[in-house]
Amino acid sequence: MSTIQTDLSGQTAIITGSTSGIGAALAEGLAACGANIILNGLGDTADIEALRAQMAATHGVEVRYHPANMLKTDEIADLIGFAGTEFGRLDILVNNAGIQHVAKIEDFPAGKWDAIIAINLSSAFHAIKAAIPVMKAQGRGRILNIASAHGLVASPFKSAYVAAKHGIVGLTKTVALEVAECSITANAICPGYVRTPLVDGQIADTAKARGISEEEVVRDVMLKAQPTKKFVEYDELVGLMLYLASDAGASCNGAAFPVEGGWTAA
Ligand code: NAD
Repeated sequence: MSTIQTDLSGQTAIITGSTSGIGAALAEGLAACGANIILNGLGDTADIEALRAQMAATHGVEVRYHPANMLKTDEIADLIGFAGTEFGRLDILVNNAGIQHVAKIEDFPAGKWDAIIAINLSSAFHAIKAAIPVMKAQGRGRILNIASAHGLVASPFKSAYVAAKHGIVGLTKTVALEVAECSITANAICPGYVRTPLVDGQIADTAKARGISEEEVVRDVMLKAQPTKKFVEYDELVGLMLYLASDAGASCNGAAFPVEGGWTAA
């Protein structure tokens, strides 16, 4: 659990893809600061309910779950509307849901390309489009898009992911310019490798694509790119998110913040 604090009591936050990994950690960080939370994501119903109940009990905030599938535009609009019906406001939108597929471009399944673009990029567009009128009416809002170091630089065998993540950085900049005078900010957070279920799944796929062992993938591919030679920790992302969500972050707008141990400095 995060020990970083800022006062978000009375605010409402939606975090897409928060049933696992980074999204769950970001939701926990927002709950710890007093925000009411709407969780979203796929997974086992009992596991999701356990996560929801634990977060509410630990932090004394209201936590709801909405099952919107990020492949479905109408369900995404319903998720944004859910904040209004449950809490009467939407202060913070974190677009985090994402999937990955690792393969050579000539072997890359077209269906995987479509799904990655839809979940990792287009879902953020649909969510932002629905959220902006609510935030404008409130006179304040924070949009945080979880991009990646792969929103700033490329790696082989990740064509769809790199395209989607570069796309979300561009979307972030465009939205930021459009809402700059409305006390709404839009920023992207660009993590390096974080040891989540998504990354665990990539290790085997990358080993196959590159013809090397899983140990070599961790040492020579993933952590090779990160000068610190360490995975990024959840709290390091939570800290930046809370800063950007707070009043102190009001003049940060349209930026893409690397949290990757210096990877993109090289
Ligand atoms: P994860 O697999 O642990 O979590 C992904 C979340 O997205 C889950 O809650 C899952 O249910 C949800 N999701 C997937 N498809 C969905 C759909 N169709 N509808 C609704 N929800 C859906 O992955 P993670 O590593 O925590 O990744 C979270 C975000 O962080 C992603 O956008 C990812 O690209 C980004 N990221 C991760 C890393 C990393 O190293 N783990 C690095 C940079 C960026």
